[in-house]
Amino acid sequence: MTDIASHPQPVTVLGTGLMGAALAEALLKAGRPVTVWNRTSAKAEALTALGAVHAGDVAEAAAASRLLILCVRDAPAARTVLDAIDPAPGRVVVNLTTSSPEEARDAAARAAARGLDYLDGAIQAGAHIIGRPEALLMYAGREPLFRAHEETLRVFGPDTRFLGADHALPALFDLALLGLVYELWIGYLHTLALIGAEGLPVGSFASAAGKIVDDLVQHFGALATEVETGRYDPETFGRLVDHEVISGRLVEARASRGVDAERLRHVKRLIDRRIGQGLGEQGFSSIFESFRPAAMP
Ligand code: NAP
Repeated sequence: MTDIASHPQPVTVLGTGLMGAALAEALLKAGRPVTVWNRTSAKAEALTALGAVHAGDVAEAAAASRLLILCVRDAPAARTVLDAIDPAPGRVVVNLTTSSPEEARDAAARAAARGLDYLDGAIQAGAHIIGRPEALLMYAGREPLFRAHEETLRVFGPDTRFLGADHALPALFDLALLGLVYELWIGYLHTLALIGAEGLPVGSFASAAGKIVDDLVQHFGALATEVETGRYDPETFGRLVDHEVISGRLVEARASRGVDAERLRHVKRLIDRRIGQGLGEQGFSSIFESFRPAAMP
């Protein structure tokens, strides 16, 4: 077993923008020898003050370590850098550039065609929380490659997850999580508008909202099981017939105060459609059937 303390694995970081610099700094803080390269060299040079070695080009940077972390603006930029890396025994490229699922698969295929060992990853964290427990980092590709470098990758955050062999998975999870964040934000902001429409300070409502959301989160696992099994328990979130009444009241409360009620009207339409199909006794989560993807098992 490698003695990490006395022989820390060198790591190369390709791209030292805001995120790449944060990744390099975390590695340096963890005692790893770090080589950095950036297209605009001044940004990489700045990291030498913290102990990094500055490489003049991609080939020199790649030669310095077996583990190469790639983090540039977007997939086309990552392609340019990837094409400048030559394969070598034990050399692994971990691409942490934000990409679409399709771009991630494309980059993996490109790397494979060139004989490069490759993992794709996604970062759900701002640069300022790299290394902290709040950061979520997700990886996919050949599992032995991930396990071989897992300890080093955990330097970027203890919540480091391996999702599977399909390189598109981190990008897909990343997009899905961003979608969830938007849905929660927009829901909360509409709720604040309802409270504010009564002339109340919206801050007085924040802790009540937080309590309810904390409680909802406890049901995420159960809801996923309902969706997987197609069995929608009315005990989890109540019957559709009850929600028809509540959602109608809510639409009225928002609309009568001049607050946008369109999103809730959409929710009510979904509920009404299920009730119209004679399914009103099913649980709220059964409205998933209105948008269940055909491809789902
Ligand atoms: P950034 O500060 O704007 O830096 C962009 C980096 O990409 C710079 O190093 C830039 O080099 C490089 N670059 C752009 N085009 C290039 C090209 N054609 N060839 C080579 N290098 C190129 O962005 P960032 O915040 O570091 O973000 C990097 C990645 O991390 C993005 O995919 C982003 O979505 C992801 N991410 C960032 C955050 C965050 O909080 N910042 C959070 C999650 C994910 P130059 O310096 O030469 O322009």
